Amino acid sequence: MEKPFAITLDVGSSLANKTGAWRTQRPLYVDRLPPCNHACPAGENIQGWLYHAESGEYEQAWRLLTQDNPLPAVMGRVCYHPCEGACNRAQLDSAVGINSVERFLGDEAIRRGWRFSVPEASSGRRILVVGAGPSGLSAAYHLARLGHAVEIHEAGPLAGGMMRFGIPKYRLPRAVLDAEVKRILDLGVVLKLNTKVASIQETMKSGRFDAAFLAVGAHIAKRAYLPAGSAAKVLDAVAVLRSMEGKEAPLLGRRVVVYGGGNTAIDVARTAKRLGADEAVIVYRRTREKMPAHDFEVEEALQEGVLIKWLSTIKQANEASITVEKMKLDEKGFPQPTGELETLAADAVVLALGQDVDLSLLDGVPGLEVEDGVVRVGPNMMTGHAGIFAGGDMVPAERTVTVAVGHGKKAARNIDAWLRGGIYAKAREHEAATFDKLNPWYYSDAPKSVRPVLDIVRRQSTFDEVVKGLDESNAQYEARRCLSCGNCFECDNCYGVCPDNAVIKLGPGKRFQFNYDYCKGCGLCVAECPCGAIRMIPEEI
Ligand SMILES: Cc1cc2nc3c(=O)[nH]c(=O)nc-3n(C[C@H](O)[C@H](O)[C@H](O)COP(=O)(O)OP(=O)(O)OC[C@H]3O[C@@H](n4cnc5c(N)ncnc54)[C@H](O)[C@@H]3O)c2cc1C
Ligand code: SF4
Ligand code: SF4
Ligand code: SF4
Repeated sequence: MEKPFAITLDVGSSLANKTGAWRTQRPLYVDRLPPCNHACPAGENIQGWLYHAESGEYEQAWRLLTQDNPLPAVMGRVCYHPCEGACNRAQLDSAVGINSVERFLGDEAIRRGWRFSVPEASSGRRILVVGAGPSGLSAAYHLARLGHAVEIHEAGPLAGGMMRFGIPKYRLPRAVLDAEVKRILDLGVVLKLNTKVASIQETMKSGRFDAAFLAVGAHIAKRAYLPAGSAAKVLDAVAVLRSMEGKEAPLLGRRVVVYGGGNTAIDVARTAKRLGADEAVIVYRRTREKMPAHDFEVEEALQEGVLIKWLSTIKQANEASITVEKMKLDEKGFPQPTGELETLAADAVVLALGQDVDLSLLDGVPGLEVEDGVVRVGPNMMTGHAGIFAGGDMVPAERTVTVAVGHGKKAARNIDAWLRGGIYAKAREHEAATFDKLNPWYYSDAPKSVRPVLDIVRRQSTFDEVVKGLDESNAQYEARRCLSCGNCFECDNCYGVCPDNAVIKLGPGKRFQFNYDYCKGCGLCVAECPCGAIRMIPEEI
């Protein structure tokens, strides 16, 4: 066939247009920090593992994820996913279902038996971890991967902390927890159960430990002053939930009143319903908007038939009833008593008013600072006593599994540096990949996938898991919804739009490079990159 009267240049064949010295700015490929990553308390490289997941490289995705967090199947069930709250996609349609993809990867790893690789070299250092909750387990995992010998001393009969003795089975099946704990122990971590540390200094000395990470959680139930008749049955929420792991379920009766407004109150009320209570009523002194429990938890409880009495306090507990006083909010939004009383039938009152930390193992340790019942730590997670680090619920921070896991990671890295006589140096801070750095019109609409939920009858009568996982095609679809904020996903746009053939393609997974001999600094690539992975910098003169 005859060629038309026009010359078609192959990419890279235009050698006549070498740039002169007149360019004032040049493009630069960058990796920006996506807001999801910034918001994840465990510091997961979410964009990175979603990128693998969308290509079907699940094991690579899981390996990248577990560089920061060893409990993805647990996280995918109990994390309150602040990452999704920060996700840029929410400004287009709805946030990427990061948490559900994380769960898919965690479950896939359990199903396929993926294991962590054991470090080849041992440091010869011994670290004591006190408490096998999420924070202790996370620290143990990261320390073991750094080559240290780790011994966990756990007071209870099983590992998991509040993940086992607080969070009910219908939100976190124990087989999932067991599988993720076992994988950490398989790294060679020694777990000593039923071993309560009474004095940290004595245990460190007798065990010849080089450093310690404390993660004892907050297990002492706070008690409100509540006048109660001698026959009134007043119980602690954490004790009730803990006894669910024993041989016999707690006897709560037909009408159960729960006092409090946090996630523990919700979990106890939902547990009471499943144990057969006709009525499970939460009494809370403020309004729904002020309730510390998350909205979705409140919603799930209401669906299961839990009742909530807002703006109410308990004045008195009797044998088979309680007296409730109505409250009203003052102009500052604080609840104030009204004097208006009401009687509610109640076979048991369960107090869910928060927990304090048992710090007795720290008695006599010099240098420690305790404020509001929690131990102060520095930015490196070390307490005021050299070599003793702490994290999770026992230090001042939000009390969640993910924060606890993040503390474990941070402490492990700092313990490692401290043992080497150095300071842990964080990788360079990346510029934020905010929504304004994106070109949203490049992305097509894709509504978020919804996780299946157990039918209501089984939710009310069994401890079967309520929220189910995504199947492979939905998980992959969800991963594809990620905009890859601030990180090149090899869409080829810059390569295609450059009028000067100044973009060199390095091959799959290797991204691109600029040929500055040909780039005249027009900035088209920056304007056409969907995800903000290129920026212009002034030309050095
Ligand atoms: C009912 C309930 C539901 C929750 N639901 C969620 C949720 O859905 N999502 C979420 O993110 N967070 C949730 N949380 C909060 C979360 O469980 C905690 O923030 C988290 O478990 C804290 O981790 P940790 O490792 O600091 O302590 P813990 O999990 O409390 O673990 C501490 C461990 O230390 C052991 N220990 C204590 N003292 C000693 C000692 N002297 N010697 C040896 N061992 C000791 C304990 O036995 C325990 O195993 C919930 C909490 C409760 C109570
Ligand atoms: S751990 Fe939580 S915050 Fe982090 S990626 Fe998973 S769901 Fe998001
Ligand atoms: S779109 Fe992807 S990279 Fe961007 S914030 Fe959401 S999950 Fe993170
Ligand atoms: S335009 Fe596409 S290929 Fe070029 S940097 Fe941006 S994401 Fe990567």
